Amino acid sequence: MSALLERVVVVGGGIAGLTACDTLRERGFDGDLVIVGAEPHAPYSRPALSKSLLRPEADLTAHELAPTTHGARELRGVAAVGLDPVRRIVSLDDGDELPYDGLVIASGSRARRLSGHPGELTLRSLDDAHRLRERLADRPRVVVLGGGVLGMEIASGAVAAGCEVTLVATSAPMSRQLGEQVAAMLVRSAREQGLDIVITDAATVESEGERPVVRTSSGATYTADVLVSAVGDVPNTEWLAGSGLLRDGRLVTDGSGRVAPGVTAAGDVASWTGARGVTRVPLWTSAIEQAKAAASALLDPGAPELAFQNYFWTEQFGHGVKAVGPLPVHGSAEVLAGEPHVAPALLRWEGDGGERTVIAVDHRIPIPRLRRLTDPAFD
Ligand SMILES: Cc1cc2nc3c(=O)[nH]c(=O)nc-3n(C[C@H](O)[C@H](O)[C@H](O)COP(=O)(O)OP(=O)(O)OC[C@H]3O[C@@H](n4cnc5c(N)ncnc54)[C@H](O)[C@@H]3O)c2cc1C
Repeated sequence: MSALLERVVVVGGGIAGLTACDTLRERGFDGDLVIVGAEPHAPYSRPALSKSLLRPEADLTAHELAPTTHGARELRGVAAVGLDPVRRIVSLDDGDELPYDGLVIASGSRARRLSGHPGELTLRSLDDAHRLRERLADRPRVVVLGGGVLGMEIASGAVAAGCEVTLVATSAPMSRQLGEQVAAMLVRSAREQGLDIVITDAATVESEGERPVVRTSSGATYTADVLVSAVGDVPNTEWLAGSGLLRDGRLVTDGSGRVAPGVTAAGDVASWTGARGVTRVPLWTSAIEQAKAAASALLDPGAPELAFQNYFWTEQFGHGVKAVGPLPVHGSAEVLAGEPHVAPALLRWEGDGGERTVIAVDHRIPIPRLRRLTDPAFD
């Protein structure tokens, strides 16, 4: 354990920042701990924003997390705007400079946008979710751009709210995430519940008077009262531009989350070095596990590399899906329970290198069991 760290600064008040603070305390760091977060809110569950929070019968507290116990000084509504890793100083947008001995970078990512049009909504923050929920209450005509997890969850929430919804995607929704077999189950339910799906090669967002319009590569246009883009995320690295820590614009860590002496990173902002190369894994449980590793690596030079198999879940159109292992999967699956094309089902794929992925659709299997099914040692 390092006795040299008197002050640790954590930049980012999301789940990675929160977990880093908790881990530092659990591992015995009793020095000055400061967490800098651009949002005015306490840490909350981002996954809840596109699930329970959008539904008409929503539990409006579904995003809340347990009160923090790490005792850090929390600077909320304050953003880091610069980093000098030699002098070990973080500059803040209120003009303050925050010296540190150890730094965890957990500034996450933001929604990617396709235009500067103010009517192109995105869903990343709690404020975005409240705004979208309010708009859906009037049952507007909705266009969702993007057929990934977030796009389909938003479409599901909008359909449940009684809206007429068109989803524009560049491939069969969910197929790039879960493979064609499971995607087909979700798409079938989505269509049965009234979702209109448009597949196109490419789409742009343009202005038509006050309203944004989606134009597809075939020239077709889709106008809506509410347009929501769900077309990926962009890591929040701009504040690190002058730090010398970015490589081709990416914040690359080693397998334990180390970036530079006294600096580690975790969560959606980090391009993590793992068994599959350098990748960003913008998932909730990955942010948690990376943050535990990054906090440990700050305190202990001998901290092990993170060994973690990605876990991911989604809820949409009445289905609950859990997946462990590399995604997307290809080809047809081994059926462990249920039917191959009808939920509930428990399905397993094996990749060329022997790596396994298990996907549960509406199957109440506990996550540890799901993990065991990917491990040949438990066959
Ligand atoms: C709507 C939605 C639904 C999702 N659903 C799922 C799901 O079902 N399953 C799943 O596995 N994953 C899901 N995810 C992804 C998951 O939520 C993220 O992977 C996770 O929240 C990442 O945590 P993080 O702490 O790294 O980043 P973030 O949650 O982005 O937190 C980073 C924080 O840092 C702040 N910040 C940014 N820049 C600065 C700065 N310069 N100074 C100070 N603070 C700064 C940001 O405002 C933010 O509060 C979802 C994401 C969204 C948006």
